[in-house]
Amino acid sequence: MLNIGCHLSNSKGYMNMCSEAASIGANTFQFFTRNPRGGAAKDIDPEDVKEALSFMSENRFVTILAHAPYTLNPCAARPEVREFTENTMRDDLARMEYTPGNLYNFHPGSHVGQGIDAGIELITEMLNKILTPDQTTTVLLETMAGKGSEVGGRFEELRRIIDGVELKEKMGVCLDTCHVFDGGYDIVGDLDGVLGEFDRVIGIERLRAIHINDTKNPFESHKDRHEKIGEGYIGLEAFRRIVNHPALRGLPFYLETPNELDGYGREIALLRSIYEE
Ligand code: FE
Ligand code: FE
Ligand code: ZN
Repeated sequence: MLNIGCHLSNSKGYMNMCSEAASIGANTFQFFTRNPRGGAAKDIDPEDVKEALSFMSENRFVTILAHAPYTLNPCAARPEVREFTENTMRDDLARMEYTPGNLYNFHPGSHVGQGIDAGIELITEMLNKILTPDQTTTVLLETMAGKGSEVGGRFEELRRIIDGVELKEKMGVCLDTCHVFDGGYDIVGDLDGVLGEFDRVIGIERLRAIHINDTKNPFESHKDRHEKIGEGYIGLEAFRRIVNHPALRGLPFYLETPNELDGYGREIALLRSIYEE
């Protein structure tokens, strides 16, 4: 079975996300740990979490993916931004333990002119401060489109970050189809080649999740604008190969396309229909 869900709002809690996911044929979901622009996280209601956890196991849900607010920047030049990022991520990881064994994804950040080496150094430093041996959450670096001074547009950069982390067993990668295509990895013309390169550079066992998005912009445009599945430059035939690829088919897929719940439901049905059981 294709394991697929979409991005949902967590404003009404975990059980609400579960019900929404189930209502559109999803068996997982992604959510922001807090307001995407940062700020205080909502209190966790243990009853809500308990209900959600039993719902997820009864309904064969697979790992859910928490996404860090996108305003965080682990390699900012300003120390106060880095400190805010560190505190937010540490708090997110503590909260993740209410739902043990799941995934936490973040954008490696933008080095804002400090250079790629300095950026990578700051990111690994931060990870070494917040990861703990007893956490059950796997922390994922997201592949980026390489917009501006974004770190993580090349597989080599992600590899270097992981190399610098002491608790490597807590680390993985989330591959965003829009971002890698934008970043110059031709998943349309040469999916095998791109995944082979991922394996050589990072190791395919680090790949833990897929953000499945089409793109509004042509190959290598470094723009990062998501499109609905089949309506952009990646196209449905490429997605057919992606969801069925032997190296990917067991992974959880998360839609981040410009959609409301009903649109996500249609995309999930479409992707399930092209998945070869
Ligand atoms: Fe993201
Ligand atoms: Fe993404
Ligand atoms: Zn994006």
